[in-house]
Formats: sequence, structure tokens, C-alpha cells
Amino acid sequence: MTIAIIAHDGKKAEMVGFVKDHVALFQQRNIHLIATGTTGSHLERAGLEVEKMASGPMGGDAQIAARIAEGKVDMVIFFRDPLGKHPHEVDVSMLMRLCDVYNIPLATNPAAAQRFVQTL
Ligand code: PGA
Repeated sequence: MTIAIIAHDGKKAEMVGFVKDHVALFQQRNIHLIATGTTGSHLERAGLEVEKMASGPMGGDAQIAARIAEGKVDMVIFFRDPLGKHPHEVDVSMLMRLCDVYNIPLATNPAAAQRFVQTL
């Protein structure tokens, strides 16, 4: 099972807290994590193995979107900052659209992420 994790800068601290709360679960052998670059570095520091893409503004969200289109992602956990402005907003929109196109579960806030991990 491949899970993509992405966090906007304003939500990174919250994402790290969330991941630390569920670290044993994310370390399971059958789970493959992919992440945008900076988010991925945070995951590594939390003790997780992760396949890192480019940083979000440099195309990382677009790379994850491409994986979704290839049928290679099973779940997306996206700690979005709804109050921030993002230079790569079009990439973010594309990623979310493709989740809907391919019917991939997409959590865009911590409450939804919490529910998602309960299913793992
Ligand atoms: P980052 O990208 O993990 O490289 O910061 C996340 C994003 O802003 O989409």
C-alpha cells in the first residue's frame, strides 16, 4: 500500500505530531510512503523510510499527481494550509482533481487523516 504524505509549511509541525503519534503504523512493512521533499525530510527525522519527491513548489505535488494517474497511490494525506498562499496552487489543484478522477481517498485536514489511519 502506497501512502502519499504532503504538508504545507504552515501545517508541518502538526503533520510531524500526527506522524509521531502513528509511527509504528507507518513503519509497517506493507506500507510504502512517498512525500514531497521537505515533508519527506521531516518524516525521515521522525524515523520513517520514505521515497522523497521534489519539494512541493519545485514539482513534488505534480510528481505525486503523476503517480496517482499511474495507479500507484492508494491514499493521500495532505495537511493543507487553507490560510496560506502557495506558488504551486495549480499543482495542488491538479493533485486533488486526480484523486477524484481515480477515486483515491484524500484527507486534507488532520481530523480526516486521523479517520484514515484508523482504517489501516
Ligand atoms: P514540501 O512541499 O514538502 O516540499 O514543503 C509541500 C507542498 O507545499 O506542497
